[in-house]
Amino acid sequence: MGDSLTDSTRPLRIAIVGAGPGGLAASISLGRLPNVELHVFDQARVLREIGAGIGINENTWRLLKWYGADKNLDAYYKKRDDSVIDIQMRDGITGELLGQRLQKDSSPIGPPYARVERYKLQNALKKEVPEGLIQLSKRLVEIEEKPSGLTLKFEDGTALEDVDLVVGADGIRSVVRQFAFPDHKLSFSGKVAYRVLIPQEDVAHIPDIPPCAAFWHTPTTHVYTNPLDEGKFEIATRALETDENAGKVSWGQEAKPEQVVHHYDGYHPTIRAIIAAPKSWLSFALFGGPRLETVTAKGRVVLIGDAAHPLSGAFGAGAAFALEDAYTLMATLGYARTHNKPQSWALEQFDEIRSPHYEKLYHILNTYEEVNKEVFAIDPPLAPSELVKVRLQKNAAGASTAWIYKYDITKVWQERLEQLEVLEASPEPVAITKEDETPTGQALDQVVADAARLSLVSA
Ligand SMILES: Cc1cc2nc3c(=O)[nH]c(=O)nc-3n(C[C@H](O)[C@H](O)[C@H](O)COP(=O)(O)OP(=O)(O)OC[C@H]3O[C@@H](n4cnc5c(N)ncnc54)[C@H](O)[C@@H]3O)c2cc1C
Repeated sequence: MGDSLTDSTRPLRIAIVGAGPGGLAASISLGRLPNVELHVFDQARVLREIGAGIGINENTWRLLKWYGADKNLDAYYKKRDDSVIDIQMRDGITGELLGQRLQKDSSPIGPPYARVERYKLQNALKKEVPEGLIQLSKRLVEIEEKPSGLTLKFEDGTALEDVDLVVGADGIRSVVRQFAFPDHKLSFSGKVAYRVLIPQEDVAHIPDIPPCAAFWHTPTTHVYTNPLDEGKFEIATRALETDENAGKVSWGQEAKPEQVVHHYDGYHPTIRAIIAAPKSWLSFALFGGPRLETVTAKGRVVLIGDAAHPLSGAFGAGAAFALEDAYTLMATLGYARTHNKPQSWALEQFDEIRSPHYEKLYHILNTYEEVNKEVFAIDPPLAPSELVKVRLQKNAAGASTAWIYKYDITKVWQERLEQLEVLEASPEPVAITKEDETPTGQALDQVVADAARLSLVSA
């Protein structure tokens, strides 16, 4: 088989494995390319999103507009209101307000810091995918490489042959990643996220609940509270879990209150009362893995979303990264197709744009780990409240994060496009410039909300 991108006699056969935010976005974006035969598979019998709320920042919103899915979420997000508090950071023990951001300080591009139930994001994207395209109950178990292309084998005994491009959108425990990078291993982070959505009336009797998203920090754990859309109240926590069985807990397993409550005994009375409210929780054992040097393999495999970056839920923006990946893949394949370039070229371009992005994210995580070690090593030890403040300040000074939530992949691609056009027109080789280095440091008052989000990984 020739390279299908430059072989106009047959359509490009693409298999997308996984129909989470990444797979759905890729179904929309790659479906917009001409002469493509698209297959989309998910292991689930019914597509549903478990969990609680999901943050929709400027970068997510920009792409939701591009995918045409923003209109499907319009009813749910809170409208921008300059006088309303967007997000707060609090000391988890004393309740002291450490910082806050008003909606007027956030991006004018979309909702201020919208957070909706996760299934609504999933549904908003799904509505834009052609009816009948997604094949459910299709669990990929093996990929075989043949000269004619890749063969995907499913648990139900069926197979898809002669695949030109496999898009691994199959999440953190990606089978596609395992095929492409068999040596890559995930490990339990030692942290479990407990999350739940309850009716707001269940916490209405509790005094001093902030009317906005709020992170409550202690040196080792944090609690996130947020009155969500449609009368729901979200509680999301991280806990250190020393129980050796914790890492075996599967994703989204029900947890009893007694498994959760004790982690937050030392917290401020408001939080203790909030944590006592739910009758049951969902627990998520957090797994992560080292950064992949490249997110493409064998000239026929590309990883997107959580499959590409097992970041263990850090940054609270994984869905956005998946949407960015799907956009970039469409852009590079589309360019290759119209400029008579091979598929391998398109994947190289994809990798050159996305891998450095993930490298920057891993760099921030490493910085946080260092800061965490540093503040715990201070002698004499800092009081808990002091430790929380110092860590937030050092995190903010050490690694800028605001850019993550404003990142404009459409602009990044536009810039690359201009460079490629220059390259095409030039008889001499022209070097393509890489993205800027990771920005380092920012003033604490500028990054209250972003530092708060990043504490997701430090607590
Ligand atoms: C605690 C926590 C909080 C988070 N909060 C946020 C947030 O606020 N904002 C945000 O943007 N992101 C958040 N994220 C990250 C976000 O949930 C993920 O990054 C996002 O869901 C990734 O999308 P995905 O499509 O790559 O993978 P997934 O959503 O994991 O989807 C993968 C899909 O692949 C399917 N699949 C898996 N294996 C197979 C197989 N072998 N064969 C066929 N199908 C398969 C699955 O059924 C699933 O539908 C959070 C993550 C965690 C852990």
